[in-house]
Amino acid sequence: MLRVRQVQRSSDEQKPRKNFTAGTNTNFPITMDVALLHIIVRRLEAAYGRQTRYSTKSPMDQLIATILSQRTNYADEMQAFNQMRERFPTWEEVASAPTAELEALIQPSRFPELKAPRIQEVIRRIIADHGDTELRFLNDLTTEAAQAYLMSLPGVGYKTATFVLLFSLRRPVLPVDTHVHRVSTRTGVLPFKTSQEKAHILLLSMLPKDPDELLNFHKLLFHHGQQVCTFSYPRCHSCVLKDVCAYYDKGVPTFGK
Ligand code: SF4
Repeated sequence: MLRVRQVQRSSDEQKPRKNFTAGTNTNFPITMDVALLHIIVRRLEAAYGRQTRYSTKSPMDQLIATILSQRTNYADEMQAFNQMRERFPTWEEVASAPTAELEALIQPSRFPELKAPRIQEVIRRIIADHGDTELRFLNDLTTEAAQAYLMSLPGVGYKTATFVLLFSLRRPVLPVDTHVHRVSTRTGVLPFKTSQEKAHILLLSMLPKDPDELLNFHKLLFHHGQQVCTFSYPRCHSCVLKDVCAYYDKGVPTFGK
């Protein structure tokens, strides 16, 4: 049973709360707060601006960069990516490189001993399936088919596939990383214990199926999770969401002014 919170909302936020329970088709009988989600988007847009920048990377570059980004910060991901591409300028060269050398080059990324052979395996599979490494064929597939292909690659899960599909191919999917997940569950848009896997599906069901809107939502929550609603030290006192946030409402100890 979810607790109903009494939150102060400004006059333009006094709209009926359109909470709903996900239907049986999702297998998630969970109550979601759609009205709160829209309030959060408006407030974070006011704080950070509308987010419109897609990736300039090709789908293949985005795919490999996303593998390198797993459990790794952006600066280290980019260092690993650039070191790899400077030594091996083509993906074919990366695929046939000595694995130990590739592992050393991507050392700034965490778990290079796992990622080096995985990257080579992914590239080899794509070449075997399609003859090159451009991933151009994804443009001819439906979003569902493109996602299914990406997720059939070794070590590529929902999150990695959605990064490629949204940021490089502008398809209507929603990547839910640790920041998007944390902000969504702490504020109460989703129940606190919703898993990251379920959050992918639930949040997508609450948002317009428009890549521009999904990109904006992802980046706003990413920025907020990275800069304010951090894992260990959320700065609730200076947060623009504190009057509508379930976590703050519960009086959970927070940090900063
Ligand atoms: S009030 Fe605190 S927990 Fe809530 S969104 Fe802001 S920083 Fe996160």
